[in-house]
Amino acid sequence: MERDIYEEIHNDFRELVKEFVKRYVTQEKMLEWDEAGEVDRATMLAAAEQGLVGLSVPEEFGGAGMLEDYRFRSIVNEELIRSGTGAALAGALGIQDDLAVPYIARFGTDAQKQKWLPKMATCEVLGALAMTEPGTGSDLRGVATTAKKTDGGYIVNGAKTFISSGKTADMVVTFVKTGEGNRPDAFSLVIIEDGMEGFDHGRKLQKMGAHGHDTAELSFSDVFVPDENLIGGVEGHGFVQLMENLPLERLSIGVVAAAISEAALEWTLDYTKSREAFGKPVADFQNSRFRLAEMATTVDVMWAYVDRAMRLFEQGELSADEAAKVKFWCTEREWEILDQGVQLHGGYGYITEYPIARAFLDARVHRIYGGTNEVMREIVARAVTGRK
Ligand SMILES: Cc1cc2nc3c(=O)[nH]c(=O)nc-3n(C[C@H](O)[C@H](O)[C@H](O)COP(=O)(O)OP(=O)(O)OC[C@H]3O[C@@H](n4cnc5c(N)ncnc54)[C@H](O)[C@@H]3O)c2cc1C
Repeated sequence: MERDIYEEIHNDFRELVKEFVKRYVTQEKMLEWDEAGEVDRATMLAAAEQGLVGLSVPEEFGGAGMLEDYRFRSIVNEELIRSGTGAALAGALGIQDDLAVPYIARFGTDAQKQKWLPKMATCEVLGALAMTEPGTGSDLRGVATTAKKTDGGYIVNGAKTFISSGKTADMVVTFVKTGEGNRPDAFSLVIIEDGMEGFDHGRKLQKMGAHGHDTAELSFSDVFVPDENLIGGVEGHGFVQLMENLPLERLSIGVVAAAISEAALEWTLDYTKSREAFGKPVADFQNSRFRLAEMATTVDVMWAYVDRAMRLFEQGELSADEAAKVKFWCTEREWEILDQGVQLHGGYGYITEYPIARAFLDARVHRIYGGTNEVMREIVARAVTGRK
């Protein structure tokens, strides 16, 4: 089913992204990122130069001013993922545009916007978002990282874990406890900068997939964070700020899930048409034909749903529970499609030289991060039943 959400300006942008992918996102680069465990800064700078990142930065600060029009971000994901070599870069760009920039663009003070956004648009400054801690993930109000008020700022102590881009980030939007108890107003977001005394980026975590994009532990030991780094300049707004941006994070995961599902279908079609067994292409067996038909139909439904969610987001109407539905439903379908794709590749589906195998490993975390799919169902259940 043809999608109808893109206009000429988006189609032109897609050509630009395709050019970039052809030039910079090679097999060699992918292996280099895997080996290093991170995407190199030069590629991030080049992506910014070409306009692939900084999409969510307002124009007055050097970005594209497209925070609300998620179609541009979707195109970046679609093309990077389709290439089979660009998943790590898609991840790194996503952290910058969907997870780090929006907290400054939406909630930052004028001074914070002026200080951070122009350099984030060019990727001279890379950001990360740190909520999860060794002792708590789903239950955000259980965080133990504290920011105690002192003259001119805060003293931060604690640790975060599983932080995407945590090793490469120059600044980390960090969820901390500034008050007593666990009421929503006990939490704030502060910017912790690379090089601040007592801030350690910790080790890179070894993951089952997504090897080319860094995920790190962070620790804070008596880190002095100046008042000017309190996001929005007012204490106690962190929880609400997170809740306001989480629909975007969840939409972004839904988009990635749809893009991966579509790519998995394409890879599986190509493979099964060229691979022969019992004297005919694997694609000609009735089982393969039915599975491919199911995969194609699911991909169409996913895009129809995700495209609608992108529209709602643009209109400022994508609610937390609608975004939660998109996140859990799309990542569950993505998982089924990838599993089927691996199966139809036979033994080669298990070999990581094949994009289907890499996508399978990369995608496992989609049902976990951005809020687990169980927590997503809880959010939806609360909305549909009206019961806590
Ligand atoms: C590769 C990777 C990248 C990540 N990137 C980031 C990042 O950039 N920033 C960041 O802050 N975090 C990040 N995370 C952390 C991620 O968001 C958390 O792992 C996730 O929210 C789950 O938290 P947890 O690991 O503490 O699991 P837990 O909360 O301990 O959950 C364990 C199990 O209990 C279930 N569970 C928990 N509560 C409920 C409930 N109420 N009802 C039913 N079941 C429940 C969960 O669904 C899960 O199955 C990342 C994680 C990974 C693996």
